[in-house]
Amino acid sequence: MKKAKFQKPTGMHDIIFGDQRYFRSIINIAENIFNYYGFSRIDTPLLEDEDLFLKGVGEATDISEKEMYTLKTKGGDRLALRPEGTASVVRSYIEQGMANRPQPVKLYYVGPFFRYERPQAGRYRQFWQFGLESLGDASPVIDAQVINVLYAILMDLKLKNISIEINSIGDKECRNSYKKMLVKYLKSKSSSLCSDCKRRTKDNPLRFFDCKDPKCQAVKAEAPKIIDNLCEDCHAHFKQTLEYLDELELPYQINPCLVRGLDYYTKTVFEFFVTTKEEKSLALGGGGRYDYLVKLLGGKETPAIGAAFGIERIMQAMKDINLVDGFKPKDRVFLAQIGSLAKSKSLVLMESLRKAKIPVVESLGKDSLKIQMAKASRIGSKFIIIIGQKEAIENLAIIKNMETGRQETVPLDQVVAKIKKG
Ligand code: AMP
Repeated sequence: MKKAKFQKPTGMHDIIFGDQRYFRSIINIAENIFNYYGFSRIDTPLLEDEDLFLKGVGEATDISEKEMYTLKTKGGDRLALRPEGTASVVRSYIEQGMANRPQPVKLYYVGPFFRYERPQAGRYRQFWQFGLESLGDASPVIDAQVINVLYAILMDLKLKNISIEINSIGDKECRNSYKKMLVKYLKSKSSSLCSDCKRRTKDNPLRFFDCKDPKCQAVKAEAPKIIDNLCEDCHAHFKQTLEYLDELELPYQINPCLVRGLDYYTKTVFEFFVTTKEEKSLALGGGGRYDYLVKLLGGKETPAIGAAFGIERIMQAMKDINLVDGFKPKDRVFLAQIGSLAKSKSLVLMESLRKAKIPVVESLGKDSLKIQMAKASRIGSKFIIIIGQKEAIENLAIIKNMETGRQETVPLDQVVAKIKKG
């Protein structure tokens, strides 16, 4: 194929044809569950003040250090394409005075996000996420509900082999004293650490647990863990959250090394994984509590929790276990025609079928009945409506039932009723 003059930007992709079926189904199913649990949709601008993300996500994170798409407007404002959803939702919560509404305020979003990452399989520079945020309630039952809502979405999507990893990274009290303990430990192991982790020891020591470098794995296994150093309040919160998850029979396991990349998390953090056919673990999404973020961004102290899932990752997981057929539109009637009078009758008949909510596929541009029938059989339509030249003149149509092989000729104005009868 000749190379097109214009290509999509590196790390970005088109969502077309069959993939759109998955894409729409995932969003539909997620929105149905969000609505059921009382979350309402929020759409925020794709661009926000760059500082909102620097402050919200934290300056010493991959996102702030190297992954943001930023621009200066003609008016001199510095804006950034949103790399994640929570900071924007919190900005809106504060700016729109949502603290005056009954708490918690439960919101969800769906849309594209942008990170200037190194492109690789399953990692894009523009990718889609859906996410939810519950702001204004500190109780652990909210943590359990958020995790349950996400699990319900994956179950409605018919995904299998889902696991949930969960941890608590404490609050200001216990995390600060734990950080000191961790830094002391990391300094004592400095000669065994990769260069990134040497830097992290100073800037953001908890990120050491995200390191994939083989060099650091032994140090990680021996490191003191925050979960063993929680204050009483954080310990009780975590224990209660796990008890609710037990009641719901959700498949979770505690991962003491799970810290998540962003600065704003407190207490509960979690991630969802799916095991692929190749026995690989694929991260679908994650989230956690962020009890200090609203205050940090200029609002009143407001406990909150949220999470986000990657839609492309979910699509990948669905393809992996061949959920293709379940997401093909079914029961579509095929409308075949021969000759220009039949084409014009078909156009009118299609309007009646649409008003009766009967899904139709046509090949109006084709003249050969053979080609049209081949397409009908590819789609697997139960009914084929054929308007030949003779039928067109007499205002008739042939309805062929592909399951029984029976066919009958009926007046055009009775086609809808016959198809509805089945
Ligand atoms: P995060 O906000 O980094 O926790 O990401 C939440 C989820 O979004 C991840 O588990 C992925 O499923 C998805 N995700 C994050 N970054 C990307 C990316 N660059 N490309 C595709 N999906 C992504």
